[in-house]
Amino acid sequence: MTAKELKNELEYKNKSAYDSITEDELERSFAYAESYKLYLDCCKTEREAVTYSIAMAKARGYEEYTLGGEIVVGGKYYYNNRGKQLILFRVGEGSLEKDGAYVLVAHIDSPRIDLKQNPLYEDSGFGMFKTHYYGGVKKYQWTAIPLALHGVVVKSDNTVVDICIGEDEDEPIFYISDLLPHLAKNQMSKTLAEGITGEGLNIIVGSEPYREEETDGAIRLNLLRILNEKYGIKEEDFLSAELTAVPAFKARDIGLDRSLIGSYGHDDRVCAYPEITALFDTKNTEKTMFAVLADKEETGSDGVTGMQGELFTDLLAEVCEAVGANYRVVKSKSKCLSADVNAAFDPNFPDVLERKNACFINCGVVLSKFTGSRGKGGTSDASSEFTAYVRNLLNEAGVSWQMAELGKVDQGGGGTVAKYVANRNIDTIDVGVPVVSMHAPYEVVSKLDLYMTYKAFCAFLA
Ligand code: MN
Ligand code: MN
Repeated sequence: MTAKELKNELEYKNKSAYDSITEDELERSFAYAESYKLYLDCCKTEREAVTYSIAMAKARGYEEYTLGGEIVVGGKYYYNNRGKQLILFRVGEGSLEKDGAYVLVAHIDSPRIDLKQNPLYEDSGFGMFKTHYYGGVKKYQWTAIPLALHGVVVKSDNTVVDICIGEDEDEPIFYISDLLPHLAKNQMSKTLAEGITGEGLNIIVGSEPYREEETDGAIRLNLLRILNEKYGIKEEDFLSAELTAVPAFKARDIGLDRSLIGSYGHDDRVCAYPEITALFDTKNTEKTMFAVLADKEETGSDGVTGMQGELFTDLLAEVCEAVGANYRVVKSKSKCLSADVNAAFDPNFPDVLERKNACFINCGVVLSKFTGSRGKGGTSDASSEFTAYVRNLLNEAGVSWQMAELGKVDQGGGGTVAKYVANRNIDTIDVGVPVVSMHAPYEVVSKLDLYMTYKAFCAFLA
């Protein structure tokens, strides 16, 4: 045997999906990216993602389920959890106790700049909003870019006012200022973490005063007047509102070859969208499947809409009850792909990743046996057996995939919802998409990696 033959036989190398993809499939992957870009533009908050995903599900025959309702074999259901978390499920004809449920989980919240509960003030000729950032943001990245305002205001009579300002070209946008370089001597000598502070992320909302008569806070008053005329809200209504500033950018192709997509919120819509479309597209009627779109991942998955909450297992228990399966047995046989993004190797920042165990753009969907930080702290760590199961599944389906951990040892790290599913006695592994500039207002993914993730989920549900 020549050395070359022996190499081919024994060595493992990360390969670009471009090496093996057919022209036909390449075309399909670019077409798939177009529908994903639409999803990105319509789903900048978890509430919008829930609304849009429900519309997609309803169009495909999914019915709304409420706890305690009827579940039948062959049924397709969705559970809308407070408008912020969505759980889609299909009840299969096969034995739930034998195979368990096939579970996909992704999250639909993204880092952003939330308004404080009492946000509106006036200072030096500007009307401003105080903010409290949500999730892990590099604060300086959120200055001097166009922002849109999204969210809901629930008034004292419980009516819900939906707000979305700044997405259409003819609508105004919002803005957080940064310092001009000419006067930034002190700021530039600070660290990136200190250059822009949390309390410094104040949003410019306007500058025109109420001019009927002279009064204190006339700019503020004029803004309240506009809000009242347009939305029927008063200042106290802010106290029960969820309003957030997100980048006003649209998803766009990046590069002369259009092979990449730039957008706000790839993390984690780039997994959420493949997850629900794979569920919609599967022809399998044997398996019982769940697709969970979770909220609050970016802040620790706590609360009634986060993956630490009981809802997913409550629904699994309801399905077990309906088909007469033992819930505890079903959990022990269930399998979960916890879908979240990973850090793509970035040639501008090669030092933080270790090449042999990093994920690369266009090398396909990423598996991570474990996440966490330091000595593998805070991870569920998938077993060798389950990792091999997924590895074989992807190989047999012709999916381009790679194995990676997030960053060098002791460089930092990150967690996902995987452990919250695994803690319920369900085998779980992290899968996802390599992202460049994760958590920035504009993130980058590759179209092939997106498509390979969809293909991986299809294989899991096939
Ligand atoms: Mn994520
Ligand atoms: Mn994230």
